[in-house]
Amino acid sequence: MSDEKFDIPDQFASPAIPAVLTEDSVIQFKCYKGISCFNACCKRADVTLAPYDVLRLQKRLGMNSEAFLKAHTVPFQLDADGVPGIKLRTDDEGACLFLDGENGCSVYSDRPTVCRYYPVALLNLREKDTYVAKQQYSLIREGHCKGHEEARELTVGEYRAEQGVGEFDEHNKAWYELILKKKSGGPGVGKPNEMSLQLFFMASFNFDMLRRFVLSDNFKATYNLPDETYALVAGDDIALMQLGNRLMRQALFGEKTIPEQSGAWEKRVDERREIWEARAKAETEARNAKTEKDMRQETTGCSDN
Ligand code: SF4
Ligand code: SF4
Repeated sequence: MSDEKFDIPDQFASPAIPAVLTEDSVIQFKCYKGISCFNACCKRADVTLAPYDVLRLQKRLGMNSEAFLKAHTVPFQLDADGVPGIKLRTDDEGACLFLDGENGCSVYSDRPTVCRYYPVALLNLREKDTYVAKQQYSLIREGHCKGHEEARELTVGEYRAEQGVGEFDEHNKAWYELILKKKSGGPGVGKPNEMSLQLFFMASFNFDMLRRFVLSDNFKATYNLPDETYALVAGDDIALMQLGNRLMRQALFGEKTIPEQSGAWEKRVDERREIWEARAKAETEARNAKTEKDMRQETTGCSDN
């Protein structure tokens, strides 16, 4: 096993190397309404969101992607290359906006992966020589969380089933693997350009914009996908998310995950030739003007300013 890993939730990463747990590891924990620390974790929330979390929450709230992202998330960077991630927005004291006073979480049945797992942390570890994520776990012990003092033992597998994380992990797995590959710096992985980063954000979190993009005439003129795929992504959020993952692999790693229409590249070059030529001309003129000015200064010993 490689030591390269991508953690969800990364906010629970401890400076100490955590003991790695498996499905069969036994933990002692119980959380319930009425426990002395009830809601303490949500009052200092630092919740990283994965794509399926966004889908569930925006559907629960009946919001479109743009409105949800604006009202309920804040951006952060997933890595040093500026790959964009998002976290749940909190109030000024750090409390989650979905916390409903003493009633607890107002979106409980659609709460994000991080909230479901806590106090277990999901570690996506990379198998040697592959970019397949192997799920393992660790246990977070924070002083305010009294659930660890409760006399209930269960395995990590039983805890995962109780919290309903299986569906979330299944739908987010391809996205975790993508980030794992980006962080592990595999072949063809460099610093993404601005356009790739924008595409990553759209395909990860802004599903309404992604749907408009893949159903646009421009997209269809560029990519060669069957009509059934377009019909599917028009109405199926999971199919849309999966197509988004394929697009991101293409943008970040140059993988040919979506076949292009023949001649699409040449057509794009033709369409943009005028813009490229104008830009090159402007750059050459600016460079010539600067050289001329520098020469003049050197010869006369004085500047124009
Ligand atoms: S989404 Fe719910 S469970 Fe998660 S931090 Fe907010 S209030 Fe707590
Ligand atoms: S036991 Fe832990 S997880 Fe449960 S409410 Fe208390 S702090 Fe939150």
